[in-house]
Order: sequence, then C-alpha cells, then structure tokens
Amino acid sequence: MANKRVHRLREKLAERGLKAMLISNPVNRRYLSGFTGSSGYVLVTEQESWLLTDFRYMAQAPQQAPRFQVVDHGTSPIDAIGELLSAAGHGRLGFEQEFVVFSDYTAWSESLSGTELVPVSGVVEELRVIKDEQEIAVMQEAAELADATFAHIVGLLKPGMVESDIALEMEVFMRSRGATSSSFDTIVASGERSALPHGVASSRVIGNNEFVKLDFGAYYHGYCSDLTRTVVVGQPTDKHKEIYSIVLEAQMHALDHIRPGMTGVEADALTRDIITRYGYGDHFGHGTGHGLGMEIHEAPRLSRLSQTVLTPGMTVTVEPGIYLPGFGGVRIEDDIVITDNGIKILTSSPKELMILG
Ligand code: ZN
Ligand code: ZN
Repeated sequence: MANKRVHRLREKLAERGLKAMLISNPVNRRYLSGFTGSSGYVLVTEQESWLLTDFRYMAQAPQQAPRFQVVDHGTSPIDAIGELLSAAGHGRLGFEQEFVVFSDYTAWSESLSGTELVPVSGVVEELRVIKDEQEIAVMQEAAELADATFAHIVGLLKPGMVESDIALEMEVFMRSRGATSSSFDTIVASGERSALPHGVASSRVIGNNEFVKLDFGAYYHGYCSDLTRTVVVGQPTDKHKEIYSIVLEAQMHALDHIRPGMTGVEADALTRDIITRYGYGDHFGHGTGHGLGMEIHEAPRLSRLSQTVLTPGMTVTVEPGIYLPGFGGVRIEDDIVITDNGIKILTSSPKELMILG
C-alpha cells in the first residue's frame, strides 16, 4: 500500500523538479504511511521514505508504517530532517505550504542551509482524489454505518425531543459500532431551523408537522461518510410535499446521469436545472456535492465553478436542497463513487418522504 502511494508521489515530485518532499499534514502523513499518531513528518526522497516522530510512538510507528524507516526526531525535528537530507544529498525540498506555520518556515530556512525550500500545494491531495479498492471498501462500510444510524434514529424520532439529544444518540450509535467519531458536527435541524443548510443540533424541541433534517456521517477507519435525509414529524402540508418531491426528483436525476468524463459544472447542472425550473433556484445556494474520503470535504466539487473532470475512483456526495427561510428546508444526500461506466451508490437509506411520530 505505502509503496505504491510513495511511488506515485515520487512521480509528482519529479514533474516538479523536487528532490525531496516533507509532509506535515497529518491526513497526508497517514495516507502515505498508515501511521495514525498525532505528530510527525513523512520525508520522501528519490530513494528513501522516512517517518519521523517522537519517542511516544516508537512502538506504534514501525507497526503501522512497516515500509518506512522510522526515526525518533528527538527535540529538534528539523535537525533530524537536515541530517537525513545531507546524507541523501541536498537539493530542492518541497514542503506543504498550507501546513507549515511561519515560525517553522523561518527556523527551517536557517537550519537547512544548502537546501532550497519550495512551497508546494496539494501534491498528496491530488493522489488522494482517486480512491483504490481498499479505500472504497472502507468507505462502503462507513456509508453502511451511516445508513444503520439513520434506521436507528427514525425509530426514535418524535415531537418533544430535543435536537441535541438526537445528535448525541446518533453519535453514541456510530461510536458503539466502530466509528472513531462522527465525521463532522451532526446536523439536526427541525422546523424553521431546517432552512439553515448547516444548522448543527441545538436545544430546540421538535414540534409537530415540521421537517427534521439530519445530516451526519461516521469517521470510520480513517474515512468519512456523509448522509442527509429529511423527514416530517407529524403531518406534512402541501408545501412540505412539494419541495420534498422537487429535491428528490433532482437528486435521483443526478444519480441516474452522472458519468465519468463529465465536469463538476455539468454534474451540478443535473440537480440545479430541475430545481430552477420549478422556481426554487434562488433557494439552492450551495453546490450539488463535494469529494469525500479521509476528510469530509475534499476535491472535487460538483458546483457551478468546478471544471474538474469526473474520473473513476473519485468519491463524491450528491446533495441538492431547497431552503425556504421561515418555513424550512430539505436536503437529500448520498455518497457515490465514479466507476468506469457510471456510478456506484454507497449509501442506501430510503428516500420516499417519511412521516414519523
Ligand atoms: Zn452531509
Ligand atoms: Zn456533504
């Protein structure tokens, strides 16, 4: 696993004329090495791959990163890095410009004389965009855990419950079944609050005859799932039914038509054109979807600005919505993987309008 990823990273470094790359983003460190500890660096040169961390991890790191040479960096990581680099021969060293603080950069510039520090953006993230079979298998399990959580919570949901209690119950359910945590702060937004696209659970008590929007996911073996379903507690009005059926039509249409080779803009238009045709385009303020994987929001985007071409192995969400201030909102979200000739849907919770309580 690690070797293949490091090999692909080396190809990227060669394209950029870099002799070595220092990785400080914890997610990228884990992606390349398998190491889950809270601190450390990955250093990759043309020939070598090192994992530098501290004494707390000297037992764990070699187990999790068997293809890396593990080095205890002691009290001064940059001195340890400098020694490894001088043994490997100096040259252009790439570093992750979004994940190095200015004081470190200044100190590194002084310590690493003879090495040119080159700011680099997104080099490992580019590799992470295309998931391999192993990653997709883990994401399938993360998605199934989200589905199980939804099935569990709809069995309990009723008027009089507090949003934050529902979120807590969902979190406990996920963690008791293997999740490290939820993949982001669980959204439970009821009544008028359901018009907030990102209404994290509050102290609001769920009333009668209103929407409850649930948007949540499991962070499971290093990967995220992300699922939204909107239900009605009590009796739906015609307005509830109308906007629900439009969002559902838009979401299903996108799932039926997203294909490899399409751009993010084209995928976004699949939902947006339908919602706009019904007159609710101004109430769908976000993109149709986003990449997900080790992080909840990754490349690519399905949005009006995204020229990324969808490619097999990409994992994205499809999540159109309509939000009417003062009334409520609906979003329906599934996780998909782009395949050679279409898509595979990872989440499978029911989508017909559920009327609870
Ligand atoms: Zn979501
Ligand atoms: Zn999402």
